Amino acid sequence: MMKDTLHDVNSYRSTTLNEIHKTSNGDPFNILIATVLSSRSRDKNTSRVAKKLFARYKTPKTLSDADILEIEKIIKSIGFYHVKSKRIKKIAHIIHKQYNNKVPEKMEELIKLPGVGRKTANCVLVYAFNKPAIPVDVHVHRISNRLGLIQTKNVEETELELMKEIPKSNWIKVNEIFVKYGQNVCLPISPLCKLCKLNHRCRYNNTHHERFVNINKSKTTQPIEPTR
Ligand code: SF4
Repeated sequence: MMKDTLHDVNSYRSTTLNEIHKTSNGDPFNILIATVLSSRSRDKNTSRVAKKLFARYKTPKTLSDADILEIEKIIKSIGFYHVKSKRIKKIAHIIHKQYNNKVPEKMEELIKLPGVGRKTANCVLVYAFNKPAIPVDVHVHRISNRLGLIQTKNVEETELELMKEIPKSNWIKVNEIFVKYGQNVCLPISPLCKLCKLNHRCRYNNTHHERFVNINKSKTTQPIEPTR
């Protein structure tokens, strides 16, 4: 199934994290900070703001020493900029002091950082360290459930179930593919099912198509009396 979508998603714009990976030569600190910034923010804006931030503060130490108002000014166009400014400054301080400027490569260590949950930690493992992991954001959660790959209520369950369903060798590609697909085809509202190569095997499409057919049938068998 993933192979079917691969061809299409290659032509879509890169995700923010992939873009940051390329422009920063895979610098794990930049990827960690960009992931924190990206939470509940639009990809294009995150990318622009993250690049501006990294141009001003190039190391964990410089970001750690930065004036909080300066950071806020740079990231102001991003959602929750006030909280995020404090968070990235704290993270920079910890990475500088406790980890000697090196972002840890283990999930257990990453989730000890302020505001870093499993999704952010998994993004760092995948985009910074090229390690097999499945970062589950809204796109990954929505699409895998719509397709019927899994049936879960929250992102935590989704991560566990996808790890069972998808071979470990493919974990690393899941986030990039699903995020691109979610931004271009399987949109949160009104997904473009007619254009989707997976529509013949998608649970959401099949159930919605059936409903649509049934509604039309009921319309033709029970004509509405014209009003006077
Ligand atoms: S058929 Fe529709 S709902 Fe299913 S994966 Fe494709 S776009 Fe998403």
